[in-house]
Amino acid sequence: MHKINILINAGRFFMLIVMRKDATPQQIENVIAAIEAKGYKARPIPGGERVSIAVLFNQGPVDADLFEGLAGVKEAIPVTRPYKLVSRETKADTTLIQINQVCIGGSSLVIIAGPCAVESEKQAMTIAEHVKKSGGDMFRGGAFKPRTSPYTFQGLGEQGLKILAKVRETFGLPVVTEVMDLSHFDMVEDYADVIQIGTRNMQNFSLLRRAGESRRPVLLKRGMSATLEEWFMAAEYIMAEGNPNVVLCERGVRTFARHSRNTLDLSAVPVVRRETHLPIIIDPSHAAGYRDQVMPLSRAAAAAGAHGLMIEVHHEPEKATSDGAQSLLPDQFDVLCRQMRAIFQILQSGDNS
Ligand code: PEP
Ligand code: MN
Repeated sequence: MHKINILINAGRFFMLIVMRKDATPQQIENVIAAIEAKGYKARPIPGGERVSIAVLFNQGPVDADLFEGLAGVKEAIPVTRPYKLVSRETKADTTLIQINQVCIGGSSLVIIAGPCAVESEKQAMTIAEHVKKSGGDMFRGGAFKPRTSPYTFQGLGEQGLKILAKVRETFGLPVVTEVMDLSHFDMVEDYADVIQIGTRNMQNFSLLRRAGESRRPVLLKRGMSATLEEWFMAAEYIMAEGNPNVVLCERGVRTFARHSRNTLDLSAVPVVRRETHLPIIIDPSHAAGYRDQVMPLSRAAAAAGAHGLMIEVHHEPEKATSDGAQSLLPDQFDVLCRQMRAIFQILQSGDNS
């Protein structure tokens, strides 16, 4: 009974003002001003056909009549999900995230690849050359590494970020790298094209809020024991601060299984696609923990409808400072790229709903 009441209240509190297709910019401005005059925050959400405006940070129910009478307003509807900016109820079209020439969420599968950690310029450049040659779209590599043990390699820090900038300059590959801590945020933001928030920080709310103020797209990994709702609410923190560009990344959750490092939850893909408008990519490397599982899991991820993959690749995995056992060799990555594109093509040509 209590739970039902909470859900009903959540539905009443979360309001979306849907503008008419022919609403003028002035009418949209007027609605925003009316929302702000009530002390709430207004967040316009451009859609394919029309603009909607979310009413945020209201502490109680919003009276729909207040807004439905305004010029240009089609209707004011409650959003029943607690993750309102993230929800497909708020935005019907899948969000497309443009990073230079790469588009995540659109009609091609985006492959992000690179080592677990940036170890040296030579290492990063060698791997980037393979990634580029095989048709990878973006480069990944950690400069700040979240390690279970404080005695293991922690990343090169700013030096690693500089190496990533050189990879981008040399190969034209946008770079994804992780930020672990608020004090490094400005620095990582200056170098990265996409900022990664790792599984261990999925509920680091100060970090999420700061990511919400960022001009960079954010790749938000699912916490290793997070429910989908907790994950979507973490994305909501980022979006509520004004950053609409969030990519969700499933990387395996912790279960009783011992045959793999984590258990890849591919059932998240259709649920993310149904419940949210955000793109979803799969990281089979951290899910598997072992190289031989990465290819089959990647094929399954592409077939399940992921918008992209993030893969660890290393040319000398036996010498890697971290995650060598799960890193593909460059030749394996090359095969993977060809297989993934073929699977994605089949889905594009048929009904993949
Ligand atoms: C990573 O991608 O380098 C990483 C540390 O992943 P996760 O946060 O998923 O463990
Ligand atoms: Mn790793």
